[in-house]
Amino acid sequence: MVARSAAFLDRDGVLVRSLLRYGKPHAPTCFEDFEILPGSEKAVDLLRQAGFLLVLATNQPDVGNGLVSREEVERMNEALDRALNLDAIKVCFHGQHEGCDCRKPLPGMLLDAAREMSIDLNRSYMVGDRRSDVEAGHAAGCRTVFIDQGYDRPEKILPDFTVGSVVEAAEVITRNGGTLQ
Ligand SMILES: [Mg+2]
Ligand SMILES: [Zn+2]
Repeated sequence: MVARSAAFLDRDGVLVRSLLRYGKPHAPTCFEDFEILPGSEKAVDLLRQAGFLLVLATNQPDVGNGLVSREEVERMNEALDRALNLDAIKVCFHGQHEGCDCRKPLPGMLLDAAREMSIDLNRSYMVGDRRSDVEAGHAAGCRTVFIDQGYDRPEKILPDFTVGSVVEAAEVITRNGGTLQ
């Protein structure tokens, strides 16, 4: 099998609206608050047309922390998948203190997907709105696209690209292609 390039996409603040409380982003905890961001469909269409596999990679620690049920999060992810037709969905349901190896900034979800789907990580991208997304992408050997939503700035772990929206992220990725510069 020929290794393919992937776009690893964070969920909240990238494809789905994050709820801001006191300037900090939070994942929706009920389906009623779940909203797919405008531009998500266009972004995944651009990436798919350019040949990228689309892999959701999302931390959902509210499940491990008991703030939302796993079923509710899966209901949201299924709605997202129906809208965007993703190739794979990777979720870390663990709380911050459970010591798992899938929670970003660790690269576990990306490495698992790469193994399962024959993904060339060096020709792939991680797109996210938090420092932990950029760190996970770098740790996996991907290039990284940071969507600056104003609440997180990965100053020490510099992303390869910084953009203002998921559509801009897709445009940057398709412009740079799947090969290392
Ligand atoms: Mg996010
Ligand atoms: Zn985990």
